[in-house]
Amino acid sequence: MHSPRFTAEPSSNGTVERDPVFDVIIAGCGPTGAMLAAELRLHDVRVLVLEKETEPASFTRIVSLHIRSLELMAMRGLLNRILERGRRRPVGGIFAAIPKPAPKGLDSAYAYLLGIPQPVIEHLLEEHAIGLGAQVRRGCAVAGFEQDDEGVTVELSDGKRLRSRYLVGCDGARSTVRKLLGVGFPGEPSRTETLMGEMEVGVPQEEIAAKVTEISETHKPFWLRPFGGGVYSVVVPAAGVSDRAEPPTLEDFQQRLRTIAGTDFGVHSPRWLSRFGDATRLAECYRVGRVLLAGDAAHIHPPAGGQGLNLGVQDAFNLGWKLAAQIRGWAPETLLDTYQAERHPVARDVLDNTRAQTELTSAEPGPQAVRRLLTELMDLDEVNRHLIEKITAIGIRYDFGEGPDLLGRRLPDIDVAQGRLYGLLHRGRGLLLDRTERLTVGGWSDRVDHLADPTAALDVPCVLLRPDGHVAWIGDDQQDLDDHLSRWFGRPGLPPQNGEREPG
Ligand SMILES: Cc1cc2nc3c(=O)[nH]c(=O)nc-3n(C[C@H](O)[C@H](O)[C@H](O)COP(=O)(O)OP(=O)(O)OC[C@H]3O[C@@H](n4cnc5c(N)ncnc54)[C@H](O)[C@@H]3O)c2cc1C
Repeated sequence: MHSPRFTAEPSSNGTVERDPVFDVIIAGCGPTGAMLAAELRLHDVRVLVLEKETEPASFTRIVSLHIRSLELMAMRGLLNRILERGRRRPVGGIFAAIPKPAPKGLDSAYAYLLGIPQPVIEHLLEEHAIGLGAQVRRGCAVAGFEQDDEGVTVELSDGKRLRSRYLVGCDGARSTVRKLLGVGFPGEPSRTETLMGEMEVGVPQEEIAAKVTEISETHKPFWLRPFGGGVYSVVVPAAGVSDRAEPPTLEDFQQRLRTIAGTDFGVHSPRWLSRFGDATRLAECYRVGRVLLAGDAAHIHPPAGGQGLNLGVQDAFNLGWKLAAQIRGWAPETLLDTYQAERHPVARDVLDNTRAQTELTSAEPGPQAVRRLLTELMDLDEVNRHLIEKITAIGIRYDFGEGPDLLGRRLPDIDVAQGRLYGLLHRGRGLLLDRTERLTVGGWSDRVDHLADPTAALDVPCVLLRPDGHVAWIGDDQQDLDDHLSRWFGRPGLPPQNGEREPG
């Protein structure tokens, strides 16, 4: 484990040190901010995460981790810890909750869905980031910032000012960073709102189950699901759209349950109560100078298909090594801009599929007819596969230019001589996976590992993987490889003293 080596504190009396003490300040320690902090620490970047809440979240909302996120966790050696705390489910039935099993032979070693309470995944990611040496300060909200050619001065809500080279807003849907940056957030406002909470009930389970089956035919989303220990997860459509400044009350739930189901099921003793809307918005850009956006700060959409957290964590995974490269000084000129070029279209696609899913859950006759048609179409393997690969994010192909279909896609966790491929990616470095045994990463060996393995389960001679596991090059020619190493990993460093370093 790395330990923090950067504990110097800028002054807090209204002045600020001009030399950055931190390389990156991250606003928000949700899943996106914590993942980004950890990715940066893999490259020894000095990271400070500022989180406005003094305590971690205490609600127990279960979220779904999809295949690509599970793959990322495996790539950083986190998967077992996460699996221990979640519950595996088959992948089927996730697109608009249309009950179709997943297509056979999904191309992943992790072809399942993991239900896990959001605070648990947040805690594990925060712990991982801190273990790698990130500093997290709770009870510190970012209230303002100014950027100049050398860095960013970040102002906290208590007036303190800190200096860093970059600032990343991972501060959620109502992002202060995005607003202060003046980045547009176009899209649609909420048309509906849903109440969600956990509470105890006063009637037997069988009575609830029968009523919920009946009501959920016409009202979506609507459920009361036992959660253990007599507690139920309750979801019911709200009466209208609020400004969501205040959480709902137990009376709000009772009233809506009575209106919709004719009974309030004797709900009492709430653990937590909240509400969410179906607003759909995408930030116009993800970067202005030295300030970037990721996660819900950059995109919001209804929870259909359970994709928001996954999308944010994957943003962080895409951004981490690029921002680290920029700070370490080896990033090619346009590398940091590829963050927006790659991730903005992915978010646009997620927004679109959640819009489609939301329409498909409407009780109106038109959407219901489309739903029936799509349900039939999903019997076609190709249709079902396309939708599942979209929601689970394993179908993503970044545009790296012309080339074989594998170029720009993620490589699954294939078998290699040393075990599994993802076991070689824990350090967040590039990897040349070489079946020819005659290529070399030469002067890039400080950033890129080389595995010469004629037995690797690949049907191409050689691939160059970026630290996020996407295929950056396919081929067998050294000059062509060197060109692509330059494209993604900048100018070569000093030649290795003792031959190339094998991944450890
Ligand atoms: C009902 C519901 C169900 C969902 N189910 C799923 C699911 O199954 N799968 C899935 O992938 N996603 C799901 N989501 C979405 C998921 O919860 C979000 O997409 C995810 O939390 C976004 O993570 P984030 O880190 O980007 O933002 P957040 O989780 O919002 O974290 C932002 C953090 O920034 C902090 N912050 C805010 N302002 C400041 C500031 N000025 N300074 C410092 N800190 C600040 C906040 O306190 C917070 O800790 C669901 C959402 C809802 C509402």
